[in-house]
Amino acid sequence: MLARGFLVALLLLVGTAAQAFALKTEKVTENVYALVGEIGPRSAENHALNNTVGFVVTPGGVVLVGSGATPVGAKLIEQSIAVVTPKPIRWVVNIGAQDHHWLGNSYFAAKGVPIIALSRTVAEQKKHVDDHLSRLKQVAPTEVDAVKPAYAPDPIDKDRVELKLGGIDFELLWPGGGHFSGDAVLWMPAQRVLFSGDYIFNDRMLGVQPYSPLLPWQQSFHKLAALKPRWVVPGHGHASDWAKAQRDTGDYLDWLVKEVGKAQEDWKEIGDTVNDLADAPQFGHLQFYDGWHRKNINRSYLYLEANQ
Ligand SMILES: [Zn+2]
Repeated sequence: MLARGFLVALLLLVGTAAQAFALKTEKVTENVYALVGEIGPRSAENHALNNTVGFVVTPGGVVLVGSGATPVGAKLIEQSIAVVTPKPIRWVVNIGAQDHHWLGNSYFAAKGVPIIALSRTVAEQKKHVDDHLSRLKQVAPTEVDAVKPAYAPDPIDKDRVELKLGGIDFELLWPGGGHFSGDAVLWMPAQRVLFSGDYIFNDRMLGVQPYSPLLPWQQSFHKLAALKPRWVVPGHGHASDWAKAQRDTGDYLDWLVKEVGKAQEDWKEIGDTVNDLADAPQFGHLQFYDGWHRKNINRSYLYLEANQ
């Protein structure tokens, strides 16, 4: 009986381990990787890692782009990198103002890893941090109590800066507003790899938030397209070529601006606009379409009304 009880306990343990959340490592191109979190909603089980971060293995060490939502998530990121390379993480680059792109910073900062970000990004992180922490607390209360916001100590007061590690060139760029006004991207010109952060959502529908500047976001997307990226590590979803980013994000931003703008030219009310545009099957493949699409039309209407 004892042996049987032990076996049941063991099976339960194995079962739990099998369900444990893991980041999916995707090789993008030589020495460039995406760590893809949950495409669905954030939860305590996924450590609020419903986003994608990435890293580059250079001869001089690892450049990590994004640090997760909590120190626990940051450790998972570190462990996923260690499976790929024994090289140390040399830099953490912040390209996002949203919690899951930077609230794991303290884990790496405590190990002496420099945190690098543009001033705009740091200012935007500070602006939203209290709100983000209180929202995170509802999702993963025990983890969030351990979060100590750690900002880039020497933020870069420019919109474009060249960085080099291990002979590999990077550009940290602000193309204009995006999901948040202070978001940025990390561009690898030789490899034509774009770490786009939340300028690009693959596989799931982007959310136009009350703080998202829709028109600058659309213009930023066009600027990023002009770089002619070959590969994209998005803020959410799987790594991809540019065509997919165009389909899942660029086309949708263009569509929202054009269709909602047209409805306003025709003096349509907001409710009628939402109803008339609610069916957009070309974007129906995106996760959260059912929950987000109508909301996005509504918020686009309000944004365009205030900013046209
Ligand atoms: Zn995000």
